[in-house]
Amino acid sequence: MRPLVASIDLSAIRHNYAVAKRCAPGRQAFAVVKANAYGHGAREVVAALHDEVDGFAVASLEEAAEVRALHGEARILLLEGCFAAQEYQVAAQLGLDVVLHNAPQVQQLLVARLGRPLSVWLKLDSGMHRLGFSEAAVREWHGRLQGATQVAELNLLSHFACADERGHPLTEQQVERFIGLLDLDFAQRSLANSAAILTIPAAHMDWLRPGIMLYGASPFSELSAEVLGLRSVMSLTAELIAIREINVGEAVGYGASWVAARPSRIGTVSCGYADGYPRHAPVGTLMLVNGQRLPLVGRVSMDMLAVDLTEQPGAQVGDAVQLWGAQLPVDEVARAAGTIGYELLSKVTQRVPRRYING
Ligand SMILES: *Cc1c(COP(=O)(O)O)cnc(C)c1O
Repeated sequence: MRPLVASIDLSAIRHNYAVAKRCAPGRQAFAVVKANAYGHGAREVVAALHDEVDGFAVASLEEAAEVRALHGEARILLLEGCFAAQEYQVAAQLGLDVVLHNAPQVQQLLVARLGRPLSVWLKLDSGMHRLGFSEAAVREWHGRLQGATQVAELNLLSHFACADERGHPLTEQQVERFIGLLDLDFAQRSLANSAAILTIPAAHMDWLRPGIMLYGASPFSELSAEVLGLRSVMSLTAELIAIREINVGEAVGYGASWVAARPSRIGTVSCGYADGYPRHAPVGTLMLVNGQRLPLVGRVSMDMLAVDLTEQPGAQVGDAVQLWGAQLPVDEVARAAGTIGYELLSKVTQRVPRRYING
């Protein structure tokens, strides 16, 4: 078997969920498990949180159905609502909470014949300008939805654009716009993603929506997951599958773009961009070989990449290479590659076996 595995510590996810809840005592939390739980495996993450979770949040009806099959009671929030009129019947059968972010969605709901009423979340566009209604439209739809036979709870939700940049002026505006609607009668309110849970108590409202923090990565560029009290969840570990010595002036990898400036010992590692390692990670991006941080050299290929082992002459074929994990935060690798932990985690591909520990 090809030596590459993503090992996933389920007890760390439970710990990180508890951190979210401790940040906002008395509030409830939808554990965000969209995109296969940010690449960690929705089934296993849902099972791991089964007993303590208040709810889950997902991006589609298909994801919601998978979660419902594993958890009969938890609230499940459809973050983008329904994408077609027929989806409301299924949403009602599954007992989902649905976001309403545009007029067609509300109109389809108001003519739907449902087996039971749905809890709905009117989405305010408080400044991100991606999804949601203006303040005036929220007021208008609130009047139309209150008392509608299709509606159980009528709730309010919005989403931050810049909560990960502390002190960004838009965040305060977004909180103010949200609060400006609270003269309306809403059963529940939800505003906070991970960044807001961790740093903006005024945004906690009734229901938190922690995503990235559950997976042990930080939403902030300047605050590490460790400083935030989060435990690392995924370790992506490969092996050295070949080692060679090269002379000054010899190149490594596609394009022969990296050329040795000293006699070098080069290891070939069993992980490439088809596993989700970023192809654009530059020379110098660090990985751990036997616990030592060593640099990537050459271009990342589909199934392999190269590491400069010159500083670790004892390294041997078969030694473990951690691409990210407990001793090398995914956020550090992401920064080196010009992206964010969210992307690296959610793009670990299907062919990488997940191994679960502490279930
Ligand atoms: C993905 C998502 C979240 C979770 O965000 P994190 O930054 O991962 O905590 C919360 N709310 C909405 C609407 C989302 O789409």
